[in-house]
Amino acid sequence: MIVIMRIGCSQEEINRVMNRIEDAGLKAHVPFGDERIVIGLAGQVLPGLRDALELLPGVDQVIPISKPYKLASREFHPQDTVVELDGVAVGGNDIVVMAGPCAVESEEQLLVTAQAVKAAGATVLRGGAYKPRTSPYEFRGLRQAGLRILAQVGKETQMPVVTEVMTPEDVELVAQYADILQIGSRNMQNFVLLDEVGRTRKPVLLKRGMACNIQEWLLAAEYVLLQGNEQVILCERGIRTFETYARNTMDITAIPIVERLSHLPVIVDPSHATGKWYLVPPLALAAVAAGADGLLIEVHPDPDVALADGPQSLTFDNFRLLMSQLMPLAQARNRKIAMPRARIKP
Ligand code: PEP
Ligand code: MN
Repeated sequence: MIVIMRIGCSQEEINRVMNRIEDAGLKAHVPFGDERIVIGLAGQVLPGLRDALELLPGVDQVIPISKPYKLASREFHPQDTVVELDGVAVGGNDIVVMAGPCAVESEEQLLVTAQAVKAAGATVLRGGAYKPRTSPYEFRGLRQAGLRILAQVGKETQMPVVTEVMTPEDVELVAQYADILQIGSRNMQNFVLLDEVGRTRKPVLLKRGMACNIQEWLLAAEYVLLQGNEQVILCERGIRTFETYARNTMDITAIPIVERLSHLPVIVDPSHATGKWYLVPPLALAAVAAGADGLLIEVHPDPDVALADGPQSLTFDNFRLLMSQLMPLAQARNRKIAMPRARIKP
């Protein structure tokens, strides 16, 4: 971080800034500059210090140089992180498609969906057992029974499974059934939950908060990394803007930005980003074109009767069509769609 002093500031004001920096346990570098005095400081700068310095007399601007997130940043970890699942890797050259219903409704519903998405080329099965719903009157998931179905169907179809965990207390239970722990958009800044999934050694799929900027998102990832869990997959799922036609606005810009700022893989969920099934294929294609490492897509055997998110769910036919369109786009980026591999786990 550097502190730029006002033109004509006094020596006393400069000393005050230097003392304030040293009181915080950091090293202030000898001021330099002819016309302007600029003071450099090294070490981990907590946000409060920046505000305090900016308010001192004689200070013009305080400019951060390093990112406030260290572990998530490319500055300190230039090579890409590849999250290895049993049978598939996220963040490598292959684009991983995760698909399945919004909510696990029954064994039959999940099994037919898993078979259909796998046959079309998906490698990870999604399905919610604990559902965060805007209205408490909506279907909130089968809970542990849903987890059991998910793990069973995942085993039967040889697909790793991803499912949401909503509270710190549920992490241990959900981790017994899931291959990837999903943190939902509404919980991206639930810091105790982030700590708790950080203490597991399960991959974490961290959705972007619907009203959070990229820095806040990467700081949320930092919480998980700081607990020693390095397997974080970021997921852009649309943010709130003034546009109301789609459920959210998919922030396609976030994909190359995150790729530049962070070594963590980034995937896209065009289902929640749009809320409308016919918008899902074009945005899934756009995400791959922009460099996404994977997709998370809602698919249902009969979207009209789905208990959650039917309007944004693809039918099996539409999912197959999308998969056939994704392949040439992946090739254009010198990538390919991940193929299902045999799992090692029985
Ligand atoms: C989901 O994936 O089912 C979900 C609820 O997503 P989000 O947290 O992005 O709304
Ligand atoms: Mn959903």
